[in-house]
Amino acid sequence: MSAVIIDGKAVAGGVREQIAQDVARMRDAGEAPPLLAVVLCNDNPASAIYVRNKERAAERAGMSFRLHTPPLDSSTESLVQLVHAINSDPGVDGMLVQLPLPAQVDAEAVGDAIAPEKDADGFHPLNFGHLAEGRGATVVPGTPLGCMELLRAYDIPVGGARAVVIGRSVIVGRPMATLLLNADATVTVCHSRTRDLAAVCREADILISAMGRPRMVDAGFVKPGAAVIDVGTTPEDGTVAGDVDRASVEPVAGWLSPVPGGVGPMTVAMLLRNTLALAAARRSAVAAPG
Ligand code: NAP
Repeated sequence: MSAVIIDGKAVAGGVREQIAQDVARMRDAGEAPPLLAVVLCNDNPASAIYVRNKERAAERAGMSFRLHTPPLDSSTESLVQLVHAINSDPGVDGMLVQLPLPAQVDAEAVGDAIAPEKDADGFHPLNFGHLAEGRGATVVPGTPLGCMELLRAYDIPVGGARAVVIGRSVIVGRPMATLLLNADATVTVCHSRTRDLAAVCREADILISAMGRPRMVDAGFVKPGAAVIDVGTTPEDGTVAGDVDRASVEPVAGWLSPVPGGVGPMTVAMLLRNTLALAAARRSAVAAPG
């Protein structure tokens, strides 16, 4: 047996096409297209690439994009003020602050300043709280949402499945576990203090790895036939390495989402979906009487 290789590029392409059609319908109805604002305050080349990818994806979907590049010596207060200004700009539907922020800045304070109704990344505590309560959040962090979309696209059963998530970050692990739980999986969350990680992972029908430890997940972590979604990306020799040792896992798993080409393309597509959802929610709130 050899795993079905999940094609994240193709799934993301379909999602982006759907979003472009929705944006075109908004334009046809005489509405302004959704506007995504990004704050970039670092000189990290990887961040510049991520932001450029987001800009290109937004524009290809017919959305508007605005980039703010405050100086690298900005204070927490000045970035919070910038975020407040974007919050109160009626033309902006969604925003995100690209991480990392400079060392002198309190990144949590800046993130918390983003209005929940403009939170394109879905990291705001209020939006995360809605997700945790299982009451249909408008926005959900893009990477875990992208993993769920891949499971759906390949008809991988989630309800009743045993799911193991390696990683407990706010960006990936925690929302991933919450989404799986909300979809009726039985979920175990692992981290650096988990004992006998491989044995826990071997119980999984769905194994999601978000550690950033190249090739650590080998066949000894995988139940035969399981769906394995590799989220890890570690820069290596001019490309990125995933957490999963593909040569070892591919003969055992039922499905494998590889790095690159799996979850990565989904993250940007889900950012666009969040921006569209925020635009729709805000505009219907503005249009509603009272
Ligand atoms: P993070 O904040 O560093 O979290 C890593 C998690 O992995 C932590 O919970 C950590 O446990 C756990 N971990 C680390 N080493 C471990 C080990 N040996 N055994 C078990 N658990 C271990 O990273 P993140 O932001 O969640 O990102 C995770 C990975 O996904 C990174 O490689 C990142 O680059 C990648 N990523 C990819 C995308 C994409 O679009 N494809 C998006 C976001 C992130 P503790 O909590 O105990 O420290």
